[in-house]
Amino acid sequence: MDLYEYQGKELFATVGLPVPRGMVAVTPEEAKAAAAQIGGRVVVKAQVQVGGRGKAGGVKLADGPAEARSVAEQIIGMDIHGHTVHRVLVEEASDIAREMYAALILDRGAKKVLAMLSGIGGMDIEQVAHEHPEALSRVWVDPLAGWSDYVSRRLCFGAGLGAELVRPMSDVFTKLWDAFTRYEATLVEVNPLILTADGRLVALDSKFSVDNNSLYRQPAVAAMRDVEAADPQEQMALERGVTYVKLDGDIGVLGNGAGLVMSTLDVVADAGGAPANFLDVGGGAKAEEIVSALEVITSDPKVKAIFFNIFGGITRCDEVANGVLTAVAQMGITMPIVVRLDGTHDVEGREILAQADVPNLFVEATMLAAADKAVALAAGRES
Ligand code: GDP
Ligand code: MN
Repeated sequence: MDLYEYQGKELFATVGLPVPRGMVAVTPEEAKAAAAQIGGRVVVKAQVQVGGRGKAGGVKLADGPAEARSVAEQIIGMDIHGHTVHRVLVEEASDIAREMYAALILDRGAKKVLAMLSGIGGMDIEQVAHEHPEALSRVWVDPLAGWSDYVSRRLCFGAGLGAELVRPMSDVFTKLWDAFTRYEATLVEVNPLILTADGRLVALDSKFSVDNNSLYRQPAVAAMRDVEAADPQEQMALERGVTYVKLDGDIGVLGNGAGLVMSTLDVVADAGGAPANFLDVGGGAKAEEIVSALEVITSDPKVKAIFFNIFGGITRCDEVANGVLTAVAQMGITMPIVVRLDGTHDVEGREILAQADVPNLFVEATMLAAADKAVALAAGRES
């Protein structure tokens, strides 16, 4: 899960990492009030989860409340690289002496956290790495050893920072590491990390991504989830504990077991169709589990046909067949559903479905035949 700048800064503040004083505003009037409360010169910043806001005109300085109101009016509602601005962060303006770059990134390949520091910041790190490769310092941190001042020193000397910055920068990185580990982040990036005219290091921006699998034990972070921005099906699946990933086709796919569902996506694509989702119902055959899964799938208006792929191992196909019938009857689904049943008690399962004689239910014994059928039905070539 990616956080907005203001949320990342809230987390920074909890570990004592200095951030400018600021408030979130949803309307120009609120931005004006925020500027009045903060006092002096402020900066008004678009809150969207995309970089390059500065260049796109989403970050503007204002001399006081009246100007804060007028720049907020320009920024709220603006489109920045496909993201509409709904909120702005109003902050006390900083007097910048130097812009630097600091980051901690989970490097999955190395199975370590990669710490990066550059004495040049404010622009894309790719650009820094390209134009000033000597300015970017990288150190991999052993997760079991954790952070130590020695890592900070290596980063600072590697980036060519002056000796006077080593201590304060070590302090910043210790706190960044604290935030990274405490909130189970996969990425924490500060660009720019500034040196103010009066010699303080301050996090002027924040990019913060946390591991979704940790959210159950990170209530403060989980509460930051942006329900508005979330995909409605993925949000629904999350609330119901259904393992679901939205895709962009029109054939709803569900099956028992992640591997089987992934193969099903391939088979649908191979048959010339486009899957609308990935959904693993697990080993369950209970009607209520199938209802939950089908409700998530059918709430996607793009879905025109459903392909339910079951391979019965421990799960028995006759029990799944009964679950499917109960779910379909209960939900009153009218779109075509292709069911492939194979494995334990498959003959009985197919028999149960055939006996029920539901007009929009099609039963197939193989995955390929079922995929062809689902693709034809979604395309309206069969009924
Ligand atoms: P981004 O463009 O989306 O990465 O947004 P940033 O938060 O990094 O802001 C972009 C740039 O705006 C920074 O690199 C700064 O140069 C400038 N900026 C942001 N806040 C202030 C501020 O308080 N004072 C001044 N003078 N410049 C600022
Ligand atoms: Mn930035």
